[in-house]
Amino acid sequence: MTVSQQKSKKVIPIISDPNQEKFVSLYEAQKKVYPRSISGYFHQWRWITIWITQIVFYGMPWLEWGNRQALLLDISTHRFYIFGLVLYPQDLVFLVVLLVIAALALFLFTAVAGRLWCGFSCPQSVYTEIFLWIERKIEGDRAARIKLDSKALSFEKIYKKWLKHAAWITFSMWTGFTFLGYFTPIREISDSILHFHLSPWETFWICFYGFATYGNAGFLREQVCKYMCPYARFQSAMFDKDTLIVTYDEERGEPRSGRSRKVDAKEAGLGDCIDCSLCVQVCPVGIDIRDGLQYECISCGLCVDACDSIMDKMNYPRGLVRFSTQNGVSHHWSKHEIIQKILRPRVLIYTGLLVLLCVGFAVSLGMRTPFKVDVIRDRGVLSRLVEGGNVENVYRLQITNATEATQTYHISATGLDGLTIASQNEFTVNAADSRMVAIGLQIPDGSIKSGSHPINFEIKALGLNEAITEKSIFYMSR
Ligand code: SF4
Ligand code: SF4
Repeated sequence: MTVSQQKSKKVIPIISDPNQEKFVSLYEAQKKVYPRSISGYFHQWRWITIWITQIVFYGMPWLEWGNRQALLLDISTHRFYIFGLVLYPQDLVFLVVLLVIAALALFLFTAVAGRLWCGFSCPQSVYTEIFLWIERKIEGDRAARIKLDSKALSFEKIYKKWLKHAAWITFSMWTGFTFLGYFTPIREISDSILHFHLSPWETFWICFYGFATYGNAGFLREQVCKYMCPYARFQSAMFDKDTLIVTYDEERGEPRSGRSRKVDAKEAGLGDCIDCSLCVQVCPVGIDIRDGLQYECISCGLCVDACDSIMDKMNYPRGLVRFSTQNGVSHHWSKHEIIQKILRPRVLIYTGLLVLLCVGFAVSLGMRTPFKVDVIRDRGVLSRLVEGGNVENVYRLQITNATEATQTYHISATGLDGLTIASQNEFTVNAADSRMVAIGLQIPDGSIKSGSHPINFEIKALGLNEAITEKSIFYMSR
């Protein structure tokens, strides 16, 4: 290694032989990846999923349900609106279960299909692909971009770079605005933007998410997948030799070598790989799939499209690089045999757990009462003697109406003979709202012993024919 090479990398000498020094790189500066565009089956599917995910992401906040936003995670009022469902902080368990279901679904998907999620639906790959599309439109394909970057500053270079960044930032800000629209009604934010009275926090979140998109998709790109994404790190625990991956058929491809179409590969003792490097040039993470299974591979399938296009040109059968499994390649399994291996113990366990959780979630959601009541004893007034020779305890009841219509609630109390409600006992609560009400309970003085006595409040939603019972205590002073 020359001195200049040593200077370009952080190196440490390892002395294994007193007469020889060996230099090992601590880290290497990342080379910029210039993915080349390619068309083909997987490229087409990638764009179909990009369109679907982006239509859903950008369109969802504009969708109305009744007279409100269909999906709104309103943190300021502690309510999550999910179409017909309104979740409150007490319903946090449903959100936790939903997250567990999503995680388990990802485990199952990974066990069966490897990192297809990464290549086709992950926001990081999707936005990187969109940003790359913009970059290609302005700066050209791989060769033109490499040439432009190596050129000295010129009017053309400044103009193209400026245009690209302007387009990226505009798109990023729109993404930030849409993201905020999931937490604050999007029509209100649009109105605030149009009238220049966006709050500082709203401005912060739009810029924060916008610049995160700009940085991740415009600059960090494959570095996010390689070094920042935790999924890339633990996915290997879910992989086995029957997981779908992008593979290079080494047995068929090697020995690789360039040749003309007229050369008979078999006679020349060559494999099918013509070493054109197209599969490397199209790779968005800059790896060579011919080096074997690598954790950086996001299973986007673009190298499959690239290699198939070369195989077509050479009149060789397609599939030198293909979606398969490690077992499938080593045992020369057919598609049918590979599919048969999907139902294996790991997949069955994930599926069973997922089905159980989904059923449990659906049942508990169906049985969820459409209102909630919290009973709080008025600590300021434990017990007091009132007119008529009665002893009174005062309670505060927080009634939360989790439905989309105004409801009337009737309150009664049981548990002690002669216990009566000495205050208003019917209340209306607006749709998706809560109300604190005061309830006075009375009992004739001397009818019970002094001390605490368990009682029950029964709260009936008159329009819903549903009731819930809440426990409390009645305190009789000495
Ligand atoms: S190796 Fe192939 S499938 Fe993997 S990331 Fe690169 S292009 Fe995509
Ligand atoms: S695209 Fe196919 S033929 Fe070309 S280098 Fe890659 S594997 Fe070999």
